[in-house]
Amino acid sequence: MSLPAAPKNDAPIPLLDLRGEWSAIGAEIRSALDGVFSSQHWILGPEGQALEREIAQLCGVPCAVGVASGTDALMLSLHAAGVGAGDDVIIPAFTFVATASAVSALGARPVFADIEPETFAIDPAGIEQGLTPRTRAIIPVHLFGLSAEMDPILALGARRGIAVIEDNAQSLAAKYRGRATGSLGAFGCVSFYPSKILGAYGDAGMILTASQSAAERLRALRNHGETTRYISTERGWNSRLDEIQAAVLRVKLRHLAQWTAARQRVARAYDSLLSGLPGIRTPKGREGCEHVYSVYTIRVEGGSERRDRVRQHLAGRGISSVVYYPVPLHLQPLYAAAGVKRGALPHSERAADEVLSLPIYPGLTEAQIERVANALKEAVGS
Ligand SMILES: *Cc1c(COP(=O)(O)O)cnc(C)c1O
Repeated sequence: MSLPAAPKNDAPIPLLDLRGEWSAIGAEIRSALDGVFSSQHWILGPEGQALEREIAQLCGVPCAVGVASGTDALMLSLHAAGVGAGDDVIIPAFTFVATASAVSALGARPVFADIEPETFAIDPAGIEQGLTPRTRAIIPVHLFGLSAEMDPILALGARRGIAVIEDNAQSLAAKYRGRATGSLGAFGCVSFYPSKILGAYGDAGMILTASQSAAERLRALRNHGETTRYISTERGWNSRLDEIQAAVLRVKLRHLAQWTAARQRVARAYDSLLSGLPGIRTPKGREGCEHVYSVYTIRVEGGSERRDRVRQHLAGRGISSVVYYPVPLHLQPLYAAAGVKRGALPHSERAADEVLSLPIYPGLTEAQIERVANALKEAVGS
């Protein structure tokens, strides 16, 4: 892969820099787009179908259905699983708001479960506590590139007849005990938002499923409920993945394995440079699982003030960082009316106060990684 000239020693380091990617594959992308322009086929065409086959193969599932976004993937999956008004859906309190808003959009109620203290993933024991007679689905989120602890969740779902829908927006091609995330539950929801592990040049998403009949229904749901052109058998949505995005994604998919390996190398370098820094904890893995590091998130122990000071110090050295996510969902104004108080989900609350995500992308150089690590060392005074 040809990379741009090494940046100057004091040049700002962004959280994510896709310019290296563009200079490596721009010509391939332009030529794929030319193909779409000459075909004049814009929606539900051969590029989208090919992408569905390729993502299904990547994840080891029989079926994949392209949709307009990761949020829509969640919403359509929930609907296909029978979730509607009056139902409860258990989700982690520490995730991006879209996991919850997809539930709310259907008139169902998100029930927030706490996370495991080490991995940021939903705690299977927290799910048990959140069960009600109205629980219809569970959405484990594979956050930051690492799988949730799926076996107990799948067992619970099977035992209670509750659908497990994986929010795999952040962890495409990560592994849980040898199997791809997104291939384990009834549905796996992928986002191709530009900053995700496989990013479109706009919005796009996909649903993975082992069920041919569910896939067929989803194809109708994403297109106004049409089973035949202009014949609708149920109310659906307009949620399609267009040919331009599919063409871009197919080019990028050919490079995904190499880019993921590069991210993993960046993570290893951070792990070793940051190990032992006082009050800093590097991200944990999970036994038998492959982490794809869509995000590299450390903990700055000691609360949000210390974390925010560290972030300020990095900014002063030209280094971008971000807090994914500063407010757990039960404390969001959006869900205040549910009345879940601070203190109820302590691991989620603590994560929100301590997390800090550092720059990570395939073209990040060793010198840049060292600059980030050195700035962190200064910030914690060691
Ligand atoms: C990005 C994201 C989504 C939503 O995906 P969009 O494609 O932006 O709609 C859902 N859940 C999580 C965890 C995400 O990170």
